[in-house]
Amino acid sequence: MLLTKEKIETIFKKILNKEMSREEANRWAYGAKCEADNRNVIFLPKNLEDKIHKDGIMYLLAVDHQMYKNVYDESMKDIQKFYEEKWLNSNDIDNQVETVAMDVAIDIDDNWVQCSNKSCEEVFTVSNQEKYLECPKCLKIQLNPQYLP
Ligand SMILES: [Zn+2]
Repeated sequence: MLLTKEKIETIFKKILNKEMSREEANRWAYGAKCEADNRNVIFLPKNLEDKIHKDGIMYLLAVDHQMYKNVYDESMKDIQKFYEEKWLNSNDIDNQVETVAMDVAIDIDDNWVQCSNKSCEEVFTVSNQEKYLECPKCLKIQLNPQYLP
């Protein structure tokens, strides 16, 4: 499993836009935590592994906690504030992102790319919110030509 800064930001955006419930975000984070515990995760950028873990997965794991029935610990405002402070306005992110030379997947059509590995050439679907892709067949990590920052 590939866990990126962009993936975490996408989940926050979906919660704030009410495209994803808190319970769905909790389930996603739980799955991500299990994969991380089993060391099945590649973090990108690598130097943000701790941040993705702490301010991403662990925060999202608790996002469905309720103080009382139907009253969440964190209000939507709290989530917005946390997201902005920790992810959007955090200077340490962009300054620390390592530039890694990486192949780019081949752009096929809207939401479709082909693996850049010549001995694989798997065609798979992508979202333009993902900067990095992991080929579902050969697991090669590559850049998404359709990524829109
Ligand atoms: Zn591949």
